[in-house]
Amino acid sequence: MTIDSKLPNVGTTIFTVMSALAAEHKAINLGQGFPDFPMSEELVSLVNRAMQNGFNQYAPMPGLISVRESLAEKVFSLYNHSVNPDTEITITPGGTYAIYTALTTILRAGDEAIVFEPAYDSYIPGIEANGAKAVTIPLTYPNYSVDWESVKQHINPKTKLIIINTPHNPTGAVLGKEDMQQLEEIVSGTNIFVISDEVYEHIIFDGLVHESVLKYPALFKRSFVCYSFGKTYHCTGWKLGYCIAPAALMKEFRKIHQYNCFSCFTPAQVALADYIKNKEAYLSIPAFYQAKRDYFIRLMQQTKFEMLNSYGSYFICASYKNISDENEMDFAVRITKEYGIATIPVSSFYKNGTDNKVVRFCFGKKEETLEAAVEKLMKI
Ligand code: PMP
Ligand code: GLN
Repeated sequence: MTIDSKLPNVGTTIFTVMSALAAEHKAINLGQGFPDFPMSEELVSLVNRAMQNGFNQYAPMPGLISVRESLAEKVFSLYNHSVNPDTEITITPGGTYAIYTALTTILRAGDEAIVFEPAYDSYIPGIEANGAKAVTIPLTYPNYSVDWESVKQHINPKTKLIIINTPHNPTGAVLGKEDMQQLEEIVSGTNIFVISDEVYEHIIFDGLVHESVLKYPALFKRSFVCYSFGKTYHCTGWKLGYCIAPAALMKEFRKIHQYNCFSCFTPAQVALADYIKNKEAYLSIPAFYQAKRDYFIRLMQQTKFEMLNSYGSYFICASYKNISDENEMDFAVRITKEYGIATIPVSSFYKNGTDNKVVRFCFGKKEETLEAAVEKLMKI
């Protein structure tokens, strides 16, 4: 049997490839984004307790109402926006799934979806698997800002969706108020939907404020806003997240979700219903990760890499143009094998493979991991 592939040009994700290479060569893995320090012991015991207390059967399809109520309170206190926990929030198995479900809810064959590149790797395959076309717009190098004039020029009657991501993976760029206002103006009066990937909402630096779509009512009415507990609570392996959308949009989202996943891991939801109320747990995140970013940048001054700016996420990009003129993939593979350091080539976040001689580092690691990594990077 052969199959007419829906994704003929897709191989294995770069995260899988680089993590496997790191394991094979016993390299320090600053490639795939995940913390190497433990998550909250309190949250772990809350999950344990939920299991011991017998919360081991299906949760309701949209998620436990208690966790959705806690999220609605949190959203109100952060973004001054009231969401209805009953009709506007759905718990999902991770942020990626929330994005894919939103794509499936919105897109039909022939639709166009605008994606800014470099782009998180799941967006374009998610668009294409749904029969739609990804229209890519490059962020300007090296600041990775959005050229809104170019966005205007790419909009046509087929444009069904714009995906934004702030703080941004892989670049650490952050959208400001003016960006959100520009987006609001561009989509005003159109039938264009927005998917806002805000999984790094709490990982933002230098006193910058996260501009959630939830703060912009005219944008929110057309938006699916996607989050990940994995990023906020240092537990990427839990694969748990949520989507917030206006009731009419969420109703359609749930029609897809209920036949794909139906409902998510109950014990974690029981635990999170309580733990989300602990404001300190997420309000302390910017300072916690900013210290890691600053420490990593300081250490990296001893190397030949040129650090780009990172204002959010746990990623920072670096140019190696003073070191080599190899392409990014070759360079990333070689330094994994020869120097024991795994990174992610930023070209893998572009459909056309744009190569600026830049690799992405994840600094969401213990200080000793960052120190050991830079020790190796100094030899390059
Ligand atoms: N969006 C971005 C930009 C990400 O970096 C991630 C983390 N891999 C996700 C979404 C999804 O996170 P998860 O599915 O692991 O919850
Ligand atoms: N979000 C993580 C990253 O960008 C990894 C996600 C994955 O492995 N699919 O590194």
